[in-house]
Amino acid sequence: MTDQLRYDNRVAIVTGAGGGIGRVYAHYFASRGASVVVNDLGGSTTGSGADTKAADVVVDEIRKAGGKAVANYNSVEDGEAIVETALKAFGRVDIVINNAGILRDKGFARMTDDDWDLVHRVHVRGSYKVTKAAWPHMQKQKYGRIIMTASAAGIYGNFGQANYSAAKLALHGFGMSLAREGAKNNIHTNVIAPIAASRMTATVMPPEVLEALKPEFVAPLVGYLTHESTTENGGLFEVGAGFVAKLRRERSHGAVFKADASFTPTSVGAKFPEIIDFSQPQYPSSIMETDWMALLERAKALPSN
Ligand code: NAD
Repeated sequence: MTDQLRYDNRVAIVTGAGGGIGRVYAHYFASRGASVVVNDLGGSTTGSGADTKAADVVVDEIRKAGGKAVANYNSVEDGEAIVETALKAFGRVDIVINNAGILRDKGFARMTDDDWDLVHRVHVRGSYKVTKAAWPHMQKQKYGRIIMTASAAGIYGNFGQANYSAAKLALHGFGMSLAREGAKNNIHTNVIAPIAASRMTATVMPPEVLEALKPEFVAPLVGYLTHESTTENGGLFEVGAGFVAKLRRERSHGAVFKADASFTPTSVGAKFPEIIDFSQPQYPSSIMETDWMALLERAKALPSN
């Protein structure tokens, strides 16, 4: 199938676009007509230092290929400045790809407050600040496409990544709420958990696996989700190495207890097999989907626990 999705007249901000997956997004959007803000602080994987070169190199590459791009060197914590760059250079902002990130991997026992806080500041506060600054413009123009970058580490947990996994799953909750708030103004937010070979994964994966995990194989999903014709909003996707899948919540049918003095830990234990039995699964997709009245009726019909 020929692939003709284009982004002419759209302005995309890609954070952390000086390398890794972000660089590929920036090239992708620019090659299909978008004007791109290539944001990158240019620091190390662990969040130290800063260098304008990372963003400059990508902007040069894009311009040489005939695309439109400007560099921004702010930390994502200075989201207003990044959005300001988009407005000054291109007059609007349509797409925000919250991609910048760092790692401070360590066993929890050795993790410092600094390891915890810095990872949260870049991922959670950074995504918040950039999105917050873009949001009123998107509301006004009744159009926006936002990507939050979560991680399988956040969804499943991962050894040595307590800080990172907490921050990454925070972005999922953040994105789900924005999906609801933005829907009426055609602002769609989706969340991805990518896997790709980059300097971030170079130390944690064997070379032959890294070979198969090109960042180029993440960009098509992001391109699709951020296109104006795409209606998907509030999805969570795993993507990498040519694999794309959507995730959803599964809830067991659950057990019901009479809410009186007989509801004790012992009664929970007695019904624990029922609590963890997934033979009659439910797939709730909003907080409104729990029918509390029906559950109360079920409980009323019980003798005591
Ligand atoms: P990367 O280190 O190659 O790229 C991240 C970029 O973000 C770097 O260029 C860095 O300079 C920039 N950056 C860091 N802190 C910044 C800040 N405060 N402000 C602006 N820019 C900043 O890593 P990557 O693998 O391309 O990761 C991209 C995103 O995908 C990250 O959010 C990462 O957590 C996420 N992710 C990656 C993988 C993977 O397999 N590579 C897996 C799960 C999630």
